[in-house]
Amino acid sequence: MLTVEEAQSRILARCLPLAPESVQLDEAYGRVLAVDLRAPRDLPPFSNSSMDGYAVQARDLVAAETDTPVALRLIGEASAGGVFLGEVTSGTAVRIFTGAPLPAGADAVLQQELTQVMDDGLVQMKAVILPGTNVRAIGSDLRAGTLLVVRGTEIDANTLAVIAASGFGNVLVRRRPRVAIVSTGDELVTPGDQLDPGQIYNSNSPMLAAAVREAGGDPIILSPASDTEDSIRERFAEAQSADLILSSGGVSVGDYDLVRVVMEEMGEIDFWRVNVRPGKPLVFGDIGTTLLIGLPGNPVSSAVTFELFARPAIRTMLGCRDVQRPMITARLGESIARGDRRHYVRVTLTYTDGIVTAYPTGDQSSHRIASLQGAHGLAIIDEGTDIIPMGEIVSVLMVK
Ligand code: AMP
Ligand code: MG
Repeated sequence: MLTVEEAQSRILARCLPLAPESVQLDEAYGRVLAVDLRAPRDLPPFSNSSMDGYAVQARDLVAAETDTPVALRLIGEASAGGVFLGEVTSGTAVRIFTGAPLPAGADAVLQQELTQVMDDGLVQMKAVILPGTNVRAIGSDLRAGTLLVVRGTEIDANTLAVIAASGFGNVLVRRRPRVAIVSTGDELVTPGDQLDPGQIYNSNSPMLAAAVREAGGDPIILSPASDTEDSIRERFAEAQSADLILSSGGVSVGDYDLVRVVMEEMGEIDFWRVNVRPGKPLVFGDIGTTLLIGLPGNPVSSAVTFELFARPAIRTMLGCRDVQRPMITARLGESIARGDRRHYVRVTLTYTDGIVTAYPTGDQSSHRIASLQGAHGLAIIDEGTDIIPMGEIVSVLMVK
């Protein structure tokens, strides 16, 4: 049986970044940059004031103090968005506001709290100031040519600020992978519809669609397939125009587990079964040119194998730098017995006095949707026969 890492690398080896497309800035949030972005100009693009005050020549104020202020002649005003066209020469000052360009000739700004306006066109300066004080120099944030955002970055709010400040109206991002979702099972009923004896609501399709969206993909929910080869074949044929097919259910060893049968007929199986709990019967392969990850039907198995295998596949197609979620270490909040497979235990994390503690979310059976609720991460418990005592340090894969 493959390890999680082996299975991941078999899948990722077959996932290629999709083509770039140009989007406007207001559509760029959450997209993944396809190219490196360099600063096209200095930022700020001109030296400007960081204070409301007076633009001066610092050497005029070498003797200025509260009791012996230096009077300068006011020759104009510079406000944000406006430019003072004259020049500050010795003995003169320009009224200036935050963000306004520093007038020619001036080399510092004395904040207005240290000044006093007289009624004869003079302003008294009450403090010494060094050249450059309260001035944001041209290029002091970013120099033209600096690498702004590296390709593969997922554009978040702060990245958008950098891109917008540099003046980009459009950016090249990777196309979102179209991910077809095919739940299988005769027992499935659409939430909201009437439930007859023996039936359950289909929770995997909406869960997987949301997870696809969160990973950066574009989900397409197909109607669930019933447990016949014909029905599964029909859905897989419909799904073939997608970049990736995610099926759920029908991959175990029961008489109605027909996903593998149809995969073998319409495409090829790359591997079946991974040394993981939950999710051992995961299958991977293709339906012709479209990759298919067959997730097990138990809701927890579906969710965990989505995290471990489908999410990284989607992120690779997006060209993401961060294909994997971050890992942390935490102390176990209760003891855990190892089992015959690597176990991904759903945990909530608390932070107290500098220590992160991971608490399992109750009974970890793979049908317990409740064990997913509120989980921050998956504690990784390798196989074995011993019991890991409470307080031991374990690795946790973050899922939030
Ligand atoms: P399977 O992998 O098809 O054997 O399904 C395993 C378990 O998961 C069974 O109890 C199914 O009823 C349940 N299950 C399968 N598909 C879904 C789904 N889409 N939503 C909720 N539960 C499901
Ligand atoms: Mg089934």
